[in-house]
Amino acid sequence: MTDRVLRVCALYPDLMNIYADRGNLLMLERRCRWRSIGFELTASSLGEALRDEFDLYYIGGGQDADQRLCAADLLALKAPALHSAGARDAVVLGVCGGYQLLGHAYELASERVEGIGLLDVHTVREDGPRLIGSVAVELADGVIAGFENHGGRTYLGAGQAPLGRVLRGHGNDGRSGFEGARTRNVIGTYVHGPLLPKNAWLCDRLIATAVGLDPSALAVLDDTLEDAAHATALRAAGVDASRSTG
Ligand code: GLN
Repeated sequence: MTDRVLRVCALYPDLMNIYADRGNLLMLERRCRWRSIGFELTASSLGEALRDEFDLYYIGGGQDADQRLCAADLLALKAPALHSAGARDAVVLGVCGGYQLLGHAYELASERVEGIGLLDVHTVREDGPRLIGSVAVELADGVIAGFENHGGRTYLGAGQAPLGRVLRGHGNDGRSGFEGARTRNVIGTYVHGPLLPKNAWLCDRLIATAVGLDPSALAVLDDTLEDAAHATALRAAGVDASRSTG
């Protein structure tokens, strides 16, 4: 498998990295290296035009102020590349603030922060508490668990599929029972934790998809610690840890 290389582009890793979301990149790197899959990480931040030449694009969560900066830059310099990536089924993963920016807009009071509309969702900072706490979500192929903390409520467009169904926690808006959004390999989620270290099975799905392998073709790793992290996150959310997956 040594001829395979996962080329990752981290968008705004200096600004969109709340709750150690950078750990998602480390997890991708380690699980590639442990399998002798090459790993190349490129950062793209403010002022840098983006070309669509990566297998996986990643944008983490951020504070509203940082999100504003990134939103304008994303629209001006990166939107065409990300739309091209989505159209050719490259993996695009957005977490929390990053998820919101993949949608059409993030509305706060009288302000509208434009997103790139790669997912048919829009987010509104309504009155009411922030949606905070442990969360567990059932996807088609497994359960993910982690931590959410967002003021925005995200609404799916009519034809937009969610990423999964909330088992515990708030999810997109605290009411719909939906969490995240997914269009082919473009994925948005509110799950921090960070997401991938607590949900190694999802990390492997993304790696396999991004490098064009069936997940069953990935070498099996000793996941004792990863399984324990997953079980702990599930338990924190109040879900029976035997309901794992993957
Ligand atoms: N600023 C956004 C919100 O509060 C996203 C927060 C985050 O990324 N954790 O909704």
